[in-house]
Amino acid sequence: MADYDYDVLVIGAGPGGYVGAIRAAQLGLKTACAEGRETLGGTCLNVGCIPSKALLHASEYFEAAKGGAMAKMGIKVTPELDLDTMQGQRKDAVKGLTGGIEFLFKKNKVDWLKGYAQFKDAHTVEVAGKTYTAKNIVIATGSSVTPLPGVEIDNAKGVVVDSTGALELSSVPKKMVVIGGGVIGLELGSVWRRLGAEVTVVEFLDQLLPGMDMDVRKEASKIFKKQGMTLKLSTKVTGVEVKGKKAKVSVEPAAGGDTETLEADVVLVAIGRRPNVEGLGLDKIGLERNARGQIETDHDFATKVDGVWAIGDVIPGPMLAHKAEDEGLAVAENIAGLTGIVNHDVIPGVVYTQPEIAGVGLTEEAAKERGAVKVGKFPMLANSRAKTNHEPDGFVKVIADAETDRVLGVWCIASVAGTMIAQAAQAMEFGATSEDIAYTCHAHPTHSEAIKEAAMAVTGKPIHI
Ligand code: FAD
Ligand code: NAD
Repeated sequence: MADYDYDVLVIGAGPGGYVGAIRAAQLGLKTACAEGRETLGGTCLNVGCIPSKALLHASEYFEAAKGGAMAKMGIKVTPELDLDTMQGQRKDAVKGLTGGIEFLFKKNKVDWLKGYAQFKDAHTVEVAGKTYTAKNIVIATGSSVTPLPGVEIDNAKGVVVDSTGALELSSVPKKMVVIGGGVIGLELGSVWRRLGAEVTVVEFLDQLLPGMDMDVRKEASKIFKKQGMTLKLSTKVTGVEVKGKKAKVSVEPAAGGDTETLEADVVLVAIGRRPNVEGLGLDKIGLERNARGQIETDHDFATKVDGVWAIGDVIPGPMLAHKAEDEGLAVAENIAGLTGIVNHDVIPGVVYTQPEIAGVGLTEEAAKERGAVKVGKFPMLANSRAKTNHEPDGFVKVIADAETDRVLGVWCIASVAGTMIAQAAQAMEFGATSEDIAYTCHAHPTHSEAIKEAAMAVTGKPIHI
């Protein structure tokens, strides 16, 4: 057998790659991870999940103080925004967590190869001018912002920005136009709206948040409008003109019609992300990509090229950190000869706005395409804890197979929906019926009782509505 430098070489140290590398090392495999960024953790820790949540959390407190939520509970404050400090704690969170991965690499004896890796052949890559060989190479190169043709993103200038630029703004824009009513647009749009910006979201489709349950998408629109966002649905952007520190965004109805011009101090382009494969040298190993530019794998995360594996945002499926992490664990276990499995039917998704929006499994629309379903719904307004906490918005919806009662999907809009959805994912992973959830004792008073009540509503017997 050939003598390799490593058993496993992972390309990319995002949540897919770093988790895969650590697990491979834990399983006794000699492991390296190539990462071109100056810090580990990928999009998620550097410019994604973590910094966006740092700003969402802080801006939520600001809005609670400013908008009267605290006053309702007898706490009168007049907040003053110190954006430098708010941005400082975001940077601290990123620094702490990315440094933590570096510590974990050292602890688990994963070698960090600093630089961008390029394939020379299926078992050889070049990183920063040096060549390394490995028996197994895992592509975990993640994704980057999808550009909008004709619209130039310039994060340094700070007028037309992507999500990375929108995290870095040094002042609150008076007017912000967000192109794309998906997860990034709504999360980062919410941050700057809470801090004082007038935010307009331009979405090509007739509803926000494609891929989510239609009831949830409709309710989300109502909630964001109530919070003061202007939503322009079924609308397309036809051009963005930048003059100095201002932009003019031309929009028209998606079906065609009169053009309207929106003025903005900041335009956020958030129309999706695409896989990172450029410069990787896939041609050197004869690995083709699908029509969406992704690398296809089998259930074990093996590509068509022997010894080359792929995980995370670079392969099909939702572009989510926890999906990438689970694939990282599974690929390492498969390489080690164990059985690594990811159930792609049960990957929760959460939008970290306020209220949070979360779901797992099938939408009602998708479930109905497969057969008859029963649906139970329960409003957060009737949940004692949410009502007491002045958090009346939202609902829980449980979708079950009409014949077997097996739960097919759960959707929530609630202040802590992201935490609540975990129990639904676990129940579905164990093949639960709605009755199983309904007869599980839930602590009182908790928001999670709304999941129990929605499950009870599947058979028409909730208590509190
Ligand atoms: P990435 O995290 O993209 O990491 C890939 C790494 O590979 C990068 O660091 C890159 O530098 C490196 N790389 C690329 N090419 C090479 C090469 N040739 N050689 C060496 N290194 C290379 N997901 C959630 O689940 N929850 C959230 O709250 C959430 N919030 C987000 C907020 C924002 C603003 C954004 C942009 C994304 C968010 N996501 C969230 C999505 C999440 O960040 C991604 O799904 C996740 O990071 C994908 O992990 P990955 O390991 O596949 O790739
Ligand atoms: P997205 O796919 O969630 O949303 C993009 C939106 O832009 C869609 O609604 C789409 O219809 C719309 N769109 C596309 N082209 C358009 C155009 N020309 N004009 C107007 N609208 C247009 O993508 P995103 O918000 O950029 O996020 C990228 C990825 O990052 C997502 O896959 C998401 O899963 C991930 N992410 C996850 C989280 C989270 O889990 N909380 C947070 C941020 C990002």
